[in-house]
This record gives sequence, C-alpha cells and structure tokens, in this order.
Amino acid sequence: MTINYEEHFQQSIARLKAEGRYRVFNDLERKAGSFPMAKSHITGRTVTVWCSNDYLGMGQHPKVTTAMSEAIGRMGAGAGGTRNISGNHHAMVTLEETLAELHRKEAALVMTSGYVTNEAALSTLCSMLPGCIVFSDQFNHASMIHGIRNSKAERHIFRHNDVKHLEELLKAADPARPKLIAFESVYSMDGDISPIKDICDLADEYNAITYLDEVHAVGMYGPRGAGVAERENVMDRLTVIQGTLGKAYGVMGGYLAASRALVDMVRSYAPGFIFTTALPPSLCAGANASIRHLMESREERELQKYKVQVAKDMMANAGLPVMPTMSHIIPILVSDPVLCKQASDMLLNQFDIYVQPINFPTVPRGTERLRITPSPIHSHEMIMELTRALVWVFERLGIKANVEDMKNAA
Ligand SMILES: *Cc1c(COP(=O)(O)O)cnc(C)c1O
Repeated sequence: MTINYEEHFQQSIARLKAEGRYRVFNDLERKAGSFPMAKSHITGRTVTVWCSNDYLGMGQHPKVTTAMSEAIGRMGAGAGGTRNISGNHHAMVTLEETLAELHRKEAALVMTSGYVTNEAALSTLCSMLPGCIVFSDQFNHASMIHGIRNSKAERHIFRHNDVKHLEELLKAADPARPKLIAFESVYSMDGDISPIKDICDLADEYNAITYLDEVHAVGMYGPRGAGVAERENVMDRLTVIQGTLGKAYGVMGGYLAASRALVDMVRSYAPGFIFTTALPPSLCAGANASIRHLMESREERELQKYKVQVAKDMMANAGLPVMPTMSHIIPILVSDPVLCKQASDMLLNQFDIYVQPINFPTVPRGTERLRITPSPIHSHEMIMELTRALVWVFERLGIKANVEDMKNAA
C-alpha cells in the first residue's frame, strides 16, 4: 500500500475542523494614521481591531515611519547578507547599542524575530553549559520550549509562577551542575505577571542563571519602557533579558541583552543567528526610533493603562467573563472552541469588530478565550461599542461568566 499524500494532508485539516480549532486568518489592510481601524478584505468593510500586539500604536508613529522611509531612501532595501558576510550594517550596530542601554546590560544581539531569538539563544546557552539543567515555567512560549528541547538539556517544568515548586526542583538537583531558569514577565494569554524578584532570589541561592522573556512588556512597563524588571528595579539581577521589536515597538525583530561574554558566545555559536540574512536597515532604524521615543515619552504608556482600566471596568460591570489581570491584556473566557470561533465571527460580521479567537494549543483546552488588547488610540466610544457588542453576542450564544472556570484558567 502506498500513502495518498493529498488525502493525508486533508485528513489532518479535517481533524482540526472537527474540533472547531481550524485557524482562519483575517485578510487585513491597516491604515497608517487611523489605527486601530483597518480594512477587512474578508468583509470588504472597515473594522476596529481589538487584538493587535502593536500595543501602543507605534507602527504608525511618524517618528518610526519617517525613520524607516528615510533609511530606505539612504541605504536601500535589504541588508545584503548575513551578519558575518557583509550584512552587518550601521543601523543594526546603533540599534544594539540602544538595546544594551535600555536594559543596562553590556551588550545586545538582534535577530530576525523574538521567536528566533528564544530558539537560538536558549538552544545555544543550554547546550554550551555542560550538564545544564533547565527549569522552565509551565506556560512558557512555544519558542522557549523549542529552544530548550533542541538543546537536549535535562529539563524540569515548574508549575506556572509557582516559586515553591521551583525551589523544590532546584533543591533536588545536583548542586554542582549548571542551572538555567527560563520564564516570562507578562504571560500574554492570561495577562498575569511573574514574581521576578523571588525567582532571582532562588537563582542566587541555587547558583542558577536566569532567562527572562519580556516580549509583552518591553515598551510598556518601567519608566523607560524597559519592561517589568525595570519597573521592579531588578534588571541587573537577570542574566538574560529577551524582547521583541514586533509588538509594542511596532516594527519587527527580536533580541537579547546580557553580558558581553554571553552575547558573544550566542553570536559565535547559534546557527539561527549565524546562517540567516540580517534585518534590513529600515527595520533597525524604525525600531531604534521607536525605542528611543518610548524611553523619553511616558504618554503612550499612561494613556494605554488608563484605556485598559476603562475597558476592564466597563466589561466586568456588564457581566462579561473577564479574567482579572494585573496587565494590559484582557482575556474574556469562553471555554469552548466552537463558541469562541462563533463569537469572533459574529463580532466581525455584525459589528465590524475584529477579535481573533484563541484556541488550543495556544491555550489549554477548555480555556478558549477572546483576548482584548486596548491601546492608547482606542477611543471611549470604541470601548463602549465593543462592550455592547460582546454582551449581545454572549447572550445570543449563551456564554456565561463561569467563576470556577475563570479560577481554573487563571
Ligand atoms: C510573540 C512572542 C514571542 C515571539 O516574538 P516575535 O517577535 O513575534 O517572533 C516570544 N515570546 C513570547 C512570550 C511571545 O508572545
């Protein structure tokens, strides 16, 4: 018997559809100058985007777009090579200096994306340390999980944000072996924040190094937007801080900031960094302008905080199943993949509101949700429209606030 390839591909898709978690992408055209509005080429109408990770609207900030166009005019489109072979351009060097300054580390290294950075840095770090044991938070992002797996290092998963469990695991490990603790500051699906200082205390006690993913926090937390570690005055206690240029900074790319020797080792050994074309000057110039702006200006952060609070209060008061969070992320629990997709479709088709459904494997089964991310540029009226639409859709679909579910998911 020979395999029917096409049938095999179709069956694998049919399984996802049967579970209600087949992913359909919206076809959007964002309009610079009028975010969060975008044209949906699916409905043909203008929609309000409520699920963007361009959290502060920096993707349309004149300083950012001007820096990018100016860079293309001056230096052309692409980088022209890998970092090693002719692709190491000055805009990249400047960006890495800015990132080191932002996180008050000796050095920084930029890669193609946050995903690539986690994969490349963790797989290199964990395999370069002989006998390394990795302690990884249960809810870490797929990019960290893949990096750690690829290193083949021994790994232990600690219960999400559970410092006691982490300590038990550290205590049980051989004191002589190198250890790395990998975790995030803001977990993007639940919107909760990790106990960074407590984890650093444990790292000191058990002689471990720390790797913190601040992807959902850079640009938004701390007086200069360096993240939650800056806000809590513990930046210097972390061995590695990793971030993205693609979310609050509104552009694209990823990076790590750490000691000169650690950065140099990753630069010299990580295949995911070495064997790929460098980011173009325009992206680096745009990211640099965005970071510099947010290091000076608190206006965007303050306004975002305010809008998030308004949205949280309004939606909770309307009886919607809002999961309580300490961050800018507002998850609304649906707990069913089919209903979650239906709710999202109804919002789009009947209200021109775009919120993507979040289903397994991005979140555990049974905790499917809508994830709302208010920005400083969403107006009061938009928040009211969203709340009214959600109430209507949730009533129609019989989705109720289930307190038990919310506790279990949180
Ligand atoms: C989005 C994300 C990444 C990947 O960053 P990109 O720049 O989008 O590749 C890494 N870690 C976490 C926690 C993320 O949510």
